Parts: sequence; structure tokens; C-alpha cells
Amino acid sequence: MRMSKLFIETLRQDPNDAEAISHKLLIRAGFIKKLANGIYSYMPLAQRVLTKISNIIRQEMDSSGAQELLMPFVQPAEVWQKSGRWQVYGKELLRCKDRHETDLCLSPTHEEVVTTLAKEVINSYKDLPLNVYQIQTKFRDEIRPRFGLLRGREFIMKDAYSFHTSKEDLEREYEVMAKTYTKIFNRCNLETKAVQSDSGAIGGSVSHEYMVLVDTQTGENDVFYCENCNYSANSNHAESILPIEEVDGGFKDEKIVDTPNVKTIADLAQFLNISPNCIVKTVAYIADSKPVLAIIRGDKDIEETKLLNVLNALELRPMEDSEIKEYLHSVPGFISYKGIDTNKVRIVFDKTIKNTKNFVIGANEIDKHIVGVNLDNNIEFFDISLVKEGEFCPICKKPLKVTRGIEVGNIFQLGTKYSKPMNACYTDEKGELKPFIMGCYGIGVSRTMAAAVEKYHDEQGIIWPESIAPYKVNIVPVNIDDELQSKTAYELYNSLIEAGVEVIIDDRTDRAGVKFKDSDLIGFPVRITVGKTIQEGLVEYKTRKDGLVEKITPIEAIERCKNAFSN
Ligand code: ATP
Ligand code: MG
Repeated sequence: MRMSKLFIETLRQDPNDAEAISHKLLIRAGFIKKLANGIYSYMPLAQRVLTKISNIIRQEMDSSGAQELLMPFVQPAEVWQKSGRWQVYGKELLRCKDRHETDLCLSPTHEEVVTTLAKEVINSYKDLPLNVYQIQTKFRDEIRPRFGLLRGREFIMKDAYSFHTSKEDLEREYEVMAKTYTKIFNRCNLETKAVQSDSGAIGGSVSHEYMVLVDTQTGENDVFYCENCNYSANSNHAESILPIEEVDGGFKDEKIVDTPNVKTIADLAQFLNISPNCIVKTVAYIADSKPVLAIIRGDKDIEETKLLNVLNALELRPMEDSEIKEYLHSVPGFISYKGIDTNKVRIVFDKTIKNTKNFVIGANEIDKHIVGVNLDNNIEFFDISLVKEGEFCPICKKPLKVTRGIEVGNIFQLGTKYSKPMNACYTDEKGELKPFIMGCYGIGVSRTMAAAVEKYHDEQGIIWPESIAPYKVNIVPVNIDDELQSKTAYELYNSLIEAGVEVIIDDRTDRAGVKFKDSDLIGFPVRITVGKTIQEGLVEYKTRKDGLVEKITPIEAIERCKNAFSN
């Protein structure tokens, strides 16, 4: 490829709306162009990276026995109605109508379509197991598209679906996919941690997320992990043992006390001279338009995904002040579950308060709290609490640590979540109809590209891992009008093409400084500079990763590239 012909625009300035480093660099280095919020064009350099990631995925999926297919991007509502998700999938599902007023949607995922296919094509247990995958554009009308490709609305996903006759066979395939995923990400030079996760809108019981660990906010997930026993989980799924499990507030009698101008847990603890864990906090929400109270120890916070799961609800938001009055006849800052009509308001108790005695709660009255409260018998407790760093590992009781992660892949054991409602069955050995037992396995292909940039960059730009770099070598003649420099550069270029090395030549008439800057910004693993020293028969061989520069002969440069990069 000749740089003068490459369809690219590089920028010296960061785009205004970019926070994430991968977003900034992918735009500045000319890989992506924004068309609309969360919707990007992949320019030729990006397309090469995506193709490489896709090919690594293809090789590993194929060698694990999966088959590639391609399903439609536009899907009829009908299949979603059959699975029951047309009604419950929130606004991320972009719905539309065709000219006949038929409801359609842009596919956010393909469980419905693939289950329909299996139902139509597979008759007998003899045809199972089966694992099929595709690499395709998805659309999700994300509430907060951000960080460029990390959370787009239109993005590229590899999605695979497997079909089995037993739970054991699903578990076997799940393990195969887990190993395949680790291999895929390793080949992209991305070390990942497989963490337990919530199954979300896809559903099912067991699931793991593949996280690229990063220190920045762009890792949207908090990952809790134990260095001792390897336990790790997304915060929406993590469990912990509290350092102090049993608490006694010490108040002998239950009574209302005045707490003037005391609004926060910290203020209240100070005012009553107690620890925050002796206070029981009541948090008011509206879940799918219904009022809900979540009750938790004062030193802990609610994990809203866990709460959503307990409620089997889709959307959760804090109650507004007017709703607190209307539904609870209470006052913001002084809410309590005591005296609330449980026929009208659902109350969910977190298990952190199970062993809390003689505690303090709000009195549903301004400037008043109740002290010395104890729980009624027969309360059902749930885990709706957010784990904090330093709490103890649920497996081995050592302190948990926290880091941030970018979720690049996700694997699920679905069971019969889709096959049952969609009546997708096969005939077993006894001639009986049985629903398929299913698994599904996703990789964010475009997100993986961005995650690689998050991991590998410096002040100058991107540092592509060799396996997914758009081109391996960039040849830069310092002065393209110099006959010897130009001739040597083209000789190198042609030799490398012949040797099957992916190479680009910067044949532009720009100053060398500009070309060097672009080379570092785009992040080619190797730059070969042909400058004045060519008169002594030497070129400069620079490795982007470590910045190491060596003067070697063009022949040596060719040999090195061949050894490193020949296909
Ligand atoms: P998230 O929790 O980040 O929204 P998800 O659980 O909704 O992800 P899945 O349905 O499991 O995602 O999709 C499979 C993979 O697709 C994810 O692991 C992720 O890598 C990728 N992905 C999901 N949503 C997006 C998005 N909006 N932009 C880019 N990639 C995405
Ligand atoms: Mg999502």
C-alpha cells in the first residue's frame, strides 16, 4: 500500500467529544470516522485490524468444531414475540415497521433467529451437539453510547450458539468455549480474566465475562478478585463476607428520637455517636413503574443489577421526592420500611442486615429517627449489596481487591430459556420431543480493537500488537525526491511484498517529521527509514514497541521482517 493513496485523515488534535484514549487515538490516527452518535465508519486501516481479529476468531472457533453462518440483520417481531422478548427487551431494541406495517427490529443479538433455525433444521438427537457462529453488525440503542467503539450503538460482534441434549454436554461445550476465548484473546495479545457475571437481558443461569483489565474509567466494569483463590466476579455479581457481620446498635428500647438537620448516614452516625453499620438504610426506587424499598446496612450500598434481578424487573430509577410523599407518605432523608403497606410497596431486605440488632432507622417524619429497632421474624433476605474492596472473599475469606475491566467477551449457559417458549425441540432416543439445551458465546470484535488500543499506546499514539496490526512494516523514505532513497525504499517495499509481509510505503512528499509522527500515531510495529545513511548502505530499523533504533543494511532489514512477519 502506498500512503499517498491510503484513504485516511490523521489529526494532530484530540476530537472534542472523546474521553477514552482509544476513542481519541482511533479518530486521530484515521481508523474511524463518526457518522452519528455511537455510529462509526471503519476506515481501511480499521477494517484491516477488524479482519485480523475476525480471522483469529474464525480459526479458533473452527478448530473447536463450530461452523460459521450468517443470519439476517433485520428480524421480524414475530420471532421475538415467540420468545417473549418483544415485550420485555427495553429501548435498546430498535424497532421499525416495513411498508406493510409489519413490525421489525435491528438485531441486537440472535437467540431468536438461531433457535428458529435449529427448530426447523434439527430433528434428531443424532444431529446434536451443534455450535454455529457468525461475525456481524449488531445494533443496540444504548442509553449512553460512549468511549467510541467501546460502547457504540452499531458494533461488530461474533456470536455463537450451541445446542445440546443434556446439561452435561452444554457444560462440556462451555468449557471448550472458555478455553477457545482465552486463546483468541491471547492471540490478540490481550490477557483476559474470566469473571462470574450477571446474565442480563440474554438470560440463563451461569455466565462468565472476559475482561481486559485496565486502570481507567473506560473499564466500565468493576471486577472484584481474590489473589489467594482466584475468585473473580463483576461487581453486579460479586459476593463478599463482611469484616463485621454482626452488629448491635446498643439501644435498649425502641423509641423515636429527634435528629434535627441530620440528613446523611454519616451525619446521623456522628449525631448519635454510633457506627454507620448500626443504621439501617432504606432506599426508595421505582422499578417498572412500581414502588420498591431496598433495605440495607448503613455502611453498604445497593447494587442495582442485583436488585433488578430479585424483582425480575427491567428498569430501575430512584424515587422522586413527590413520589416519596405519594407512595410512602414519608420525607426524603427519613424514609423507613416501618409502617409501609407491603401490599402497595415491595420491600427487599439485603442479607447484610440479617444479624443487626437494636438498630436505627428513619421515622418517615422530618427530623426524626427510630432507635432500638429489631427485625420481624420470617423476613426473606436477598443479596442486593455492592461489594467493597477489602471485604472478604466468599470462597477463602481473604480480602478482595478491585480493578476495572473492559468486557470483550461473554459466555452463557442458557439452558432452555429460548427453546421452551419457542417450542424448539428435537426427538430423543426414546422418540420423545425435548427442548434444546443451549449456550451462547459473544465477542465484541470492534470493542476488542478499541481494548487493544486502551492497552497498547503511548504519548505518540497506538502500539499495535503484531498479530492485529493493520500493516506490519512502514517504509519511510526521508526524501522521496532523492533518487537513491526512493529507489532503495521501493526495492525494500517490493521485496517485502514478495515475501508476504504486510507493508506500507510512505511515498508522500511531506517532511520526514510529519511521516514519523503519523507512523508512531498509527502504530505500525516496525518502521524502516531510508535517509542519508543509505549512502553508506544503511537504513534505520525502528521497533515501535520499545523505540529501539538500529542501523542495518537493507538486506538485513528484509531478512528480519521476513523472519518476524512472513505469512
Ligand atoms: P455490556 O454489559 O457491556 O453492555 P452486554 O452484556 O450487553 O455488554 P453481550 O450481550 O454479552 O454484551 O454481547 C457480547 C459482547 O458484545 C460483549 O461482551 C461486548 O464485548 C460486545 N458489546 C456489547 N455491547 C456493545 C456495545 N454497545 N458496543 C460495543 N461492543 C459491545
Ligand atoms: Mg449491554
